[in-house]
Amino acid sequence: AKHNGRNQWCIFDQSVRGKLICRNHLKAILADALDNDRFQIALQPFCKFETGAHSGFEVLVRLDDEGSPVAPDLFIPLAEELGFISRIGRVVMQKAMAARQAMVQAGLRPGKFAINVSAPELREPCFALEVQELLAQHDIPPTELVIEITETALIGRSTQTVASTLQQLHESGVGLALDDFGTGFSSLSHLRDFHVDKIKIDKSFVHDLEEDASDRALVDGLISLARRLGIEVVAEGVETTAQRDYLRSFGCDYLQGFIHSRPLTVKAADGQGCDDLSS
Ligand code: C2E
Ligand code: CA
Ligand code: CA
Ligand code: CA
Repeated sequence: AKHNGRNQWCIFDQSVRGKLICRNHLKAILADALDNDRFQIALQPFCKFETGAHSGFEVLVRLDDEGSPVAPDLFIPLAEELGFISRIGRVVMQKAMAARQAMVQAGLRPGKFAINVSAPELREPCFALEVQELLAQHDIPPTELVIEITETALIGRSTQTVASTLQQLHESGVGLALDDFGTGFSSLSHLRDFHVDKIKIDKSFVHDLEEDASDRALVDGLISLARRLGIEVVAEGVETTAQRDYLRSFGCDYLQGFIHSRPLTVKAADGQGCDDLSS
């Protein structure tokens, strides 16, 4: 397989041998990153759709291998499989909360922090307690934290533990967002069975809004449904003005995507003058 840089090689080489080498290499990178504190976070702002007012940041993990970024879509699934994800999640949460606390101490108003949480993390009996402790350590009101989960976390093993964890988080004031909404199987029953505060319309739907009338119907319908259930809607991956205009006409609540801002380094999010980000 042709490759310029090992990450692309990892993605495109479909041979068994390639996959094995790639997995082992990735595994080594992950272990090393954990041991040497090499995970970073990026912060992607999202805003109120109507006013464009800053509303908060989604926290996205970042990892470099010899100067080139390794895509989370590549290493998160492997980290889940290898049992690394809880340690990575803890590092991300710790860094995110420290960054938020620093912003507040600098007189800024960073708004909500939305953190992606994987299924294995939710299955840990102490997860909710650990989150509450971290929030307290960083002086963050629980209502300023949103946990983003995909619906695969809500099905399968240990549903009971997951449900009780989500209930504890809900009772403490932490928000719950269903990520990649619309791409799974039983989305609608989850809206009924869990305290869902937000759904995030997957960027695969947003992407084709201009060309695809059925995607428009679907997204329009999802947003109406969410509104009637009192659930807020975030559109992710919004890149063009046409996409934005459709979503606005459907009554979407929050906007996230390159059209608003790319994910920022913590420094940039800081230096961007987040007093701009108040209100
Ligand atoms: P996600 O949670 O759906 O996050 C949105 C992804 O879309 C991010 O990719 C973000 O950089 C990207 N994005 C944002 N705006 C746009 C846009 O306008 N256009 C396009 N094309 N993309 C946009 P990223 O950072 O590569 O993360 C990929 C996935 O990896 C995330 O998807 C999430 O499922 C997972 N992930 C990222 N960080 C974490 C983490 O800290 N913990 C866990 N468990 N998963 C994470
Ligand atoms: Ca997310
Ligand atoms: Ca998504
Ligand atoms: Ca995703």
